[in-house]
Amino acid sequence: MANQEPIRNEELFSAERLEQIRAEQDVEHKWQKGVQLSESEHMFTSTGTKIDHHTEVMQKFHETGYATPIVSHIMPTDVCNLACSFCSVGNRNDAKGKKFYGLDLDKIETYLDTLTLRGLKAVILSGGGEPTAYQDREGHNFRDLISAIKERDLEIGLITNGTMLDRYNDVIDNSFKWVRVSLYPSEYGLEILNVEKPLPKETTLGFSLVIAENIREGGPSGGAYKLSNDEGELLRHYKGHVEEILPFIQNKGGQYLRLTPDCHVHGEAFIRLHNVAEALKAEYSDVKTEDGRPIALHQHKMHGTPGNCYLGFFHPVLYADGLVYPCDSNILNDDIDRRFKPEYAAATWDTADKLYNYPVTSLVNTGKMCPRCVFTRNNNRLENVLNYGPNTSQGPAPNHVNFI
Ligand code: SF4
Repeated sequence: MANQEPIRNEELFSAERLEQIRAEQDVEHKWQKGVQLSESEHMFTSTGTKIDHHTEVMQKFHETGYATPIVSHIMPTDVCNLACSFCSVGNRNDAKGKKFYGLDLDKIETYLDTLTLRGLKAVILSGGGEPTAYQDREGHNFRDLISAIKERDLEIGLITNGTMLDRYNDVIDNSFKWVRVSLYPSEYGLEILNVEKPLPKETTLGFSLVIAENIREGGPSGGAYKLSNDEGELLRHYKGHVEEILPFIQNKGGQYLRLTPDCHVHGEAFIRLHNVAEALKAEYSDVKTEDGRPIALHQHKMHGTPGNCYLGFFHPVLYADGLVYPCDSNILNDDIDRRFKPEYAAATWDTADKLYNYPVTSLVNTGKMCPRCVFTRNNNRLENVLNYGPNTSQGPAPNHVNFI
């Protein structure tokens, strides 16, 4: 893998297929025009607005075209103890079926050293697989990975299925700025979670529920699975789940429930799932945190095509295959399979420095390779900064400012 240049294949889509995808997107764009993002959405998800608070980094970007890493995703393993049907990275192996188990810790450390010297402030651990199941060929595990990150004085965000969290209570200290537990209640009940011990008070605990078309015939927890495109039926189904989940979250001291549609769905069907999320948010708006904020949060994810892709310079993603990708969602673009494809890679674990040695150029040909980018707002924001300079008129830095 060392020094191996990723292949650049811009032929993932035919011109006809791109045209079809754009037609689906027109529907989404029309809907998006009426959307107002909430304060909670800006605070707990990546909407692009936190970029504005990194004034020095953005000023340098505007004046020179050189980028600075702020946060990096690390997806350290492909192994997971669950098998959720709508996992965003459902196909966690290479084109020949080889699985990427744990990326060697020394490779992760080399990568972290490179980026830390360049200014990295935070790391998000997520999947692919389940990060707490991480184990490399030398036997290093999640505990060793956390030590390596803490040694470099980096903030940590963790996205987890929550089934093994209690095993690591001793390492979850205030360097963890947030922990987000993904819920899959149609397939796995809340009883599989192990979040019995309270997290440090500096650590925001959040939960995430993907609104998907895959529901059970007999109600939330019984009967055979089926795909539904009936908005009323989907809403009834997810109400059953949310009514069980919200008291659970309050009991655990959770700060939010992120409701977001399955991003593998497109066009009218995607809007239907958004409508369900919005209706759920409205229905449960009186269920609040101790400081009076509604727990339910609708994340308005949307597919689009940015003019250029710069996000990966500021928020690169090291995947279990040892490659560095421009984002964690490039798999959403094609219909081939749910697999990270080397065609999108920008560097390798030991060549990430090259991202910062030159002024930026787009990491992918967005028009040909990324018709379904869910970070279009973020990329457009960066394009705006590059062309016109940072917005210096924003208020105080929000919580989790380094998780752009
Ligand atoms: S354009 Fe969007 S989807 Fe494509 S690589 Fe960049 S951030 Fe990811």
